[in-house]
Amino acid sequence: MSCICEGRVAIVTGAGRGIGRSHALELAREGAHVVVNDLGSAVDGMGTDRGPAQVVVEEIRAAGGMAIENIDDVSTWPGAQAVVASAIESFGRLDVVVNNAGILRDRMIVNMTEEEWDDVIRVHLKGTFGPTHFAAAYWRERSKAGEAVDARVINTSSTSGLFANPGQSNYGAAKSGIATFSIIAAKELGRYGVTVNAIAPGALTRMTEALSGSRAAPQVGEWNERAPENIAPLVTWLASPESAAVTGQVFLVSGGRIAISTGWGRGPGVDRGARWEPTELGAVVQKLIAEAQS
Ligand code: NAP
Repeated sequence: MSCICEGRVAIVTGAGRGIGRSHALELAREGAHVVVNDLGSAVDGMGTDRGPAQVVVEEIRAAGGMAIENIDDVSTWPGAQAVVASAIESFGRLDVVVNNAGILRDRMIVNMTEEEWDDVIRVHLKGTFGPTHFAAAYWRERSKAGEAVDARVINTSSTSGLFANPGQSNYGAAKSGIATFSIIAAKELGRYGVTVNAIAPGALTRMTEALSGSRAAPQVGEWNERAPENIAPLVTWLASPESAAVTGQVFLVSGGRIAISTGWGRGPGVDRGARWEPTELGAVVQKLIAEAQS
């Protein structure tokens, strides 16, 4: 059976653990050469460590795949530039960027610190923008040089942002921002042969284990609907040439379920063709909300 990502070069950010690790392993299994990016910081977010990225690279190589490790912090401008450069220097090209790196600093708005807000917005939003920016500049250059570019950006949103989870205003704002960023990027980059899509995954990882309650773990060999490995097939298909016609989509993916997020849309409206008085608007707004909910 042929591999659907044969010879493609892919970066996966935050690939040392959890969902990103599974993306890297599956992409490599399907023939991609993978840059396994992971900061390898401690639970408190401090320091860097080659460990997690190196372990995944060794796993890929042991299975006969090709991978290199990278410990740049993708939430910084130089880090984002360096991870893109490392793919091109090591493998001679770049076809796919999977922006997956993420952190959580959950807190109600009244208790949230400036640092907790800034860290989450930086790692998720800037950590998605930076690698996309440097990869897009590279693909634009190739496209203008006359090459047939067939490239992919796959970003990571969350139902926390799409469906608004209390206690996660920083994370949810970043994740709904990533969904919108993906749709805008799809519109901007299509002309260079680049598709951009996002996933909102659900899986049991270090990030979600505190929220998972007391559900019993499945027995060995049993279907585990919370396994991070369940997210990787869709990402690997999106990374492949087969997905060339799919762009600007946000996919909800968890266990064996895949759904399309239909996102923001224009609901019921009213136009009086003249300026409203504020005192008139109570009844108008109530009527619109009722129409939207019916
Ligand atoms: P995870 O196991 O904590 O993995 C996140 C990875 O991102 C870690 O390996 C972490 O590295 C890395 N990372 C963090 N900041 C980084 C940076 N600045 N540069 C490079 N790497 C960085 O969590 P996960 O559940 O797999 O999450 C993966 C993605 O899915 C995240 O974007 C998350 O928000 C999203 N997501 C997950 C779920 C879920 O159900 N698990 C639901 C919705 C969305 P170190 O810790 O080693 O430094």
